[in-house]
Amino acid sequence: MPIAAIYGPEDFDQPTPGHSAAVPRSRVSPAKRHGAIPMPSLEWTPEVERSTAHLYERVRQVISPVEWPLMAPTIKAINELKKTRDAVILAHNYQTPEIFHCVADIRGDSLQLAIEATRVKSDIIVQCGVHFMAETSKILNPNKMVLIPDSRAGCSLASSITGADVRLLRERFPGVPVVAYVNTSADVKAEVDICCTSSNAVQVVESLNAPTVIFLPDQYLARYVASKTDVRIIAWKGACEVHERFTGDELRAYREADPTVQIIAHPECPPDVLAEADFTGSTAHMIDWVRNRHPKRLVMITECSMADNVRAELPDVEIVQPCNLCPHMKRITLAGILDSLLTLREEVSVDPLVAEKARRSVERMINLEN
Ligand code: SF4
Repeated sequence: MPIAAIYGPEDFDQPTPGHSAAVPRSRVSPAKRHGAIPMPSLEWTPEVERSTAHLYERVRQVISPVEWPLMAPTIKAINELKKTRDAVILAHNYQTPEIFHCVADIRGDSLQLAIEATRVKSDIIVQCGVHFMAETSKILNPNKMVLIPDSRAGCSLASSITGADVRLLRERFPGVPVVAYVNTSADVKAEVDICCTSSNAVQVVESLNAPTVIFLPDQYLARYVASKTDVRIIAWKGACEVHERFTGDELRAYREADPTVQIIAHPECPPDVLAEADFTGSTAHMIDWVRNRHPKRLVMITECSMADNVRAELPDVEIVQPCNLCPHMKRITLAGILDSLLTLREEVSVDPLVAEKARRSVERMINLEN
């Protein structure tokens, strides 16, 4: 069914603070537990070439032999420092291939990373993703050090809504349960009943057994969920700045150029885009779809780096790649990860009272999965 209503900050009398596009830089705590480590050599040597050759095999389809000597010394240094620090690197599917395939220990979509974050044994988590993902790891691991290589890595969805907005929605719709996409701040997660990701959004909404649910902040994911359920959905006016740029016309042009092409799209895209797609799913579901179907020619309607990561794994699938990059995800670089491990910056902190409430919402979602 179509969504029942859609709200934004302008629909409330009380202005709510905190709708800035960028996430403020987190407090940088000194390297208190382990001490700083001097910068290792980043020279391209025969030893670096030999010891990183197996990693280059993973990415040779998407990283040229000319680029590799510029990356390999940093990759080697990061992998050695992970052992020294007892650190684990979590990387989202939108990270670039040299991060995703060469230094990450755990890879996946938001749901997979949230679940894996609960199982991490290492002292330190380095989150290669955006700020709300690092906050989620901290919420689930309050006693670990969680680092993000650049805490300015925000998200247009997370910055579209505040905890105060959720409280106003609750006043407007008393008793209606609230589901928050994980692409939200800890403050928002602390105010809602349960979180969801694009992998499990319909399942989470239906698990509440309520006739009406407030679903925030992504209006397009809300529309997608509403099309898959009989639950009445009240949405928020947030959008992903990467996925909302795709258009149905663009997809029709791909199909006209090659009627055999397969098109898969992320549910953060507008409805006219999803109407043209052969398959709609989260990043993890999209990757599974490509692994299982092995299409000859494919258009991936999502953040651009994911297509590189899939092409590195499945070089015989020809991927047409409309290149919409997420500027926030691209703040995470090899140099930044190395600096994080050397200096133990930037540490993510979440107010313990907020974290405790937010943890309930995230764990309620994870328990549904289990
Ligand atoms: S791709 Fe969209 S939803 Fe994901 S981090 Fe970037 S702005 Fe946020």
